[in-house]
Amino acid sequence: MENDNPSIETQQAIKDGINWIANWYKDRCDAGVISSEEYADAVKKLQQVKIYTTKQGTNRVTEELEKGNLHFKPELLKKGASVEMWKKLMAQKNTFPLGWCAKDNIEEPVIILDIDKIKEKMGNDPKAITSEVIHELTHLTADSFHAEQDVKKIIYGENIDGAAKRAYNSAHHQSVGNITINPNIIADTNTALVVPVIDNAKTLLHSNTGENYDFMNDGVSYNKYLDGNNEIYARMMQLRYENGLKAGELIRPDDLHKMLHDEDIINRYKAPVIISILNDVAMVPGVKEQMKKDAELARISMADVEKTFYPQQNGKMSETKMNTVSVSDLIRAKNSGNFYS
Ligand SMILES: [Zn+2]
Repeated sequence: MENDNPSIETQQAIKDGINWIANWYKDRCDAGVISSEEYADAVKKLQQVKIYTTKQGTNRVTEELEKGNLHFKPELLKKGASVEMWKKLMAQKNTFPLGWCAKDNIEEPVIILDIDKIKEKMGNDPKAITSEVIHELTHLTADSFHAEQDVKKIIYGENIDGAAKRAYNSAHHQSVGNITINPNIIADTNTALVVPVIDNAKTLLHSNTGENYDFMNDGVSYNKYLDGNNEIYARMMQLRYENGLKAGELIRPDDLHKMLHDEDIINRYKAPVIISILNDVAMVPGVKEQMKKDAELARISMADVEKTFYPQQNGKMSETKMNTVSVSDLIRAKNSGNFYS
């Protein structure tokens, strides 16, 4: 089993994941989208993170808490958190789909990967491990950059133009050096497992509420676990990795159809929402410039584009909304004369 003895290939896959995300932050810092302080904060977490490869990894965390190698967050300690309470909780909720980021519970940066389960569910492609590492490390590092909050604004229809402007105006155009991180991988031990009562992986994925929000495709039921802003953002970063999208690359609606099909994203959310998350949360500059090029291609004036698509906003398009219009939309608009959506 790989969890207690990760193969060289698995270790490399983990290393690829941690360095992919380190490079993502480097590129965003070089582009002036995040500050060098924000970059340093993310890198510090990536350098310090303990990566446990373990079945039902929370057991391993329990063991480490018991030994005093890991500590509960001060907020939890104030509420009286203890290892005994933790064990009881784990006995009920001691599973996770494929991995887990413990940042809400544990003071030290910790992620858990169940390598055997990833292989069982996703096959032997080491990229599946890398992708899962990126997911969990996104959870670990995202909060410094307002990224998860921006996702929340987008899915509930609020404007994040302010955040995008922050990017364009950023004074932090400071290049940082290349780094390579050697992950701190801690393999499983033979500690007896706390046997979970509930298969939480199943409960998580089946916790549909029956509600459907505007950002979701018709017929999709809101799922408390999948459709939270943090979870959506982490899956978006996987989508970036799996499709080789570069930091700062502007994604247009036409690109979406070409992407590898991730049913948890493509099937669940409306295309404009996905596009907006990819471009706006990453604060990709140049949307308007790209839009002008598209309009030129479709031989439409920008004034007409704005009037056609956003008559209700007096012909003014926000940066956010602009992402949702594709060349084919423009051509259709031109041909039909009065098309808008
Ligand atoms: Zn997650």
